[in-house]
Amino acid sequence: MYYYQDFDFEMIIIAIVIYLFLVISIAKLGTYKKCGGIKALVVSLLFTPVAGIIYVAISPVKSVLKIVHYRCHHCGLEFTNHHKYCPTCLKEGEKHRLERISMRTY
Ligand SMILES: [Zn+2]
Repeated sequence: MYYYQDFDFEMIIIAIVIYLFLVISIAKLGTYKKCGGIKALVVSLLFTPVAGIIYVAISPVKSVLKIVHYRCHHCGLEFTNHHKYCPTCLKEGEKHRLERISMRTY
């Protein structure tokens, strides 16, 4: 009888380890999604990893967009297209080079 109880205890430990492993794996997957790793971790812990997988799966992929802007130091305007000189300042007869700025949006 004791043997079976001991066996069950080991099984519970193994189950917890597998459970936590799954939760951490889902959390890692979640970091690539819009929901984020922490939310995926919480959902997996509270509502089982199965719910966590579904939660991560339906969450849209985190879009890491690299947006390049060109800013004029003189007038402060930003442009999405590259110009050799600031078009606004050029109208006033001034030649100001644009600074390239790259931004990351999530
Ligand atoms: Zn300008």
